[in-house]
Amino acid sequence: MDRLLIIAPKGRDAKVIQAQLGAAQIIGTIVKPDELLQAIESANLGAAIITDDALSDAELAALGNALQAQPPWSDCPFILLTPRYSAARTVARVSAALGNVTALECPLHPTALLTAARAALRARDRQRRAQDYLADRDTLALALEARVVARTTALERAIEERATAQELLDESLANYRYTIELSTLIPWTASATGWIVSIGQAWRIQTGATAQEMTRGGFLRWFHPDDIDSTNAVWEDAISRAVPIDHRNRIRAPDASYRWMRWRAAPRFAPDGTVLRWYGTVEDIDEQHAAESHLQQVQADLIHVSRLSAMGTLASTIAHELNQPLLAIANYVRGCRRLADRIHVDLRQEFTEALTAADHSATRAGEIVRRLRNLVSRGDVARLPEDLPTLINEACGIAMLDASTLGIVYQTHFDTNAQVVLVDRIQVQQVIINLVRNAVESLAGAKQRAILIETFARPQGFFEIAIHDSGPGLDAAGQAQLFKPFTTSKRGGMGIGLSISRTIVEAHGGHIWYEPGFSGGATFRFTLPAPDEYYG
Ligand code: ADP
Repeated sequence: MDRLLIIAPKGRDAKVIQAQLGAAQIIGTIVKPDELLQAIESANLGAAIITDDALSDAELAALGNALQAQPPWSDCPFILLTPRYSAARTVARVSAALGNVTALECPLHPTALLTAARAALRARDRQRRAQDYLADRDTLALALEARVVARTTALERAIEERATAQELLDESLANYRYTIELSTLIPWTASATGWIVSIGQAWRIQTGATAQEMTRGGFLRWFHPDDIDSTNAVWEDAISRAVPIDHRNRIRAPDASYRWMRWRAAPRFAPDGTVLRWYGTVEDIDEQHAAESHLQQVQADLIHVSRLSAMGTLASTIAHELNQPLLAIANYVRGCRRLADRIHVDLRQEFTEALTAADHSATRAGEIVRRLRNLVSRGDVARLPEDLPTLINEACGIAMLDASTLGIVYQTHFDTNAQVVLVDRIQVQQVIINLVRNAVESLAGAKQRAILIETFARPQGFFEIAIHDSGPGLDAAGQAQLFKPFTTSKRGGMGIGLSISRTIVEAHGGHIWYEPGFSGGATFRFTLPAPDEYYG
């Protein structure tokens, strides 16, 4: 609050001034020079009225110093009351020290005093308001500056973060590209309708074709002519049903040789379920393909060798079995020769019967040999529709050659719904012979000697073949070892029959397993897929 201070050496003058001001509602406080000094220093001086003789030179100088030390906005107004005769001198002296001085000559007219006091207080008030205004502006400016600084800092941080993120993104992209370039998988994309849209750089190295040459139907030109139709069919089917593909075909390398490739792709769907795009990879699997072909060849050789080995173990049985019809032939022929000497009409009937019997025996021996030759011959691996009961009967014809000699009761039960299978006959017969021979051999010391072969058409779309025997079966340890190659409990056994059988069955898309048999013996079961039309 602005204070109006009055300093006059003579108390009476001060009181008169105070009264005149008081009449106009202006409160003046009578003070000593040091109180005025304090008020200046604390900057709470409104205005001061001094008489010319109130202040010594030292006091004036002290006040002047205090005013000098005031903040720049502060310019305290002083009203100097001075007699007319000394006005000029006094004003000069006081103005020099105090600066903002209004001189009023005495004798003093009250109106002049009030006007001067009001003007001084108003001027001081304006100084303060100007100061407040400036202070407000400074505060605002400071706040604004702080906000600008904060914003700028945030912006700088954001720019920095963005730059770091960009760096990371670039790095990650570079890593991705590098990895993709080194990878054997070449990425590609295709439109929803199946046209190649883009394909990785490595494709060019692989084929010599540019990405542009691959777009639209261009890529067909790099396919092996024999693979174009099948590839088109697979791709068109995948597009029409929106299902992933996994397809192999051959493509032309820059040196005009063909290499096997594996194409895999899956569609990306829009929220409404329509296909947006296809994403795929193509991979050079030529070496893998060669290795697989080689493996298949080795497997076929092994199966063949195992077949020869099985025939080897059957050889003595076969020789024995062939012996009988051959002996019979020899006997009949000898008899015929004797009969021929004394041939007579009455004997003709007997003669013909003997020749017919010889013929039957020779045919039977010939049949045994034919079946064996079929079985031992390598033949091409070919899956053809085969009649399952015929196939089983033929295999058993060989595997059961000695069954009756050994006193084995052998039965078959064929499900009429399990008729035609699509298989490689020789290989599936090899499985049956392995299983039946194992069954025959297991019956060596058994009291009850029976083998039952059954077929079933299972509703899940496969046929099941079961071979039961009344032998000792297998304990847990024996079961755990089954199907492991070179595991045998037989003297002279090779232990490959079951593992080869499993290879053959699985190659046909089936399974083979063991179950304890119904009467303590063993049961081996295996499945073969039923041809589609039976369950279509
Ligand atoms: P190998 O007949 O040369 O021993 P396999 O692989 O055909 O080779 O059979 C392996 C083993 O499984 C046989 O040695 C035998 O111990 C056991 N085995 C196979 N079939 C039967 C069966 N029907 N009853 C009992 N044991 C069997």
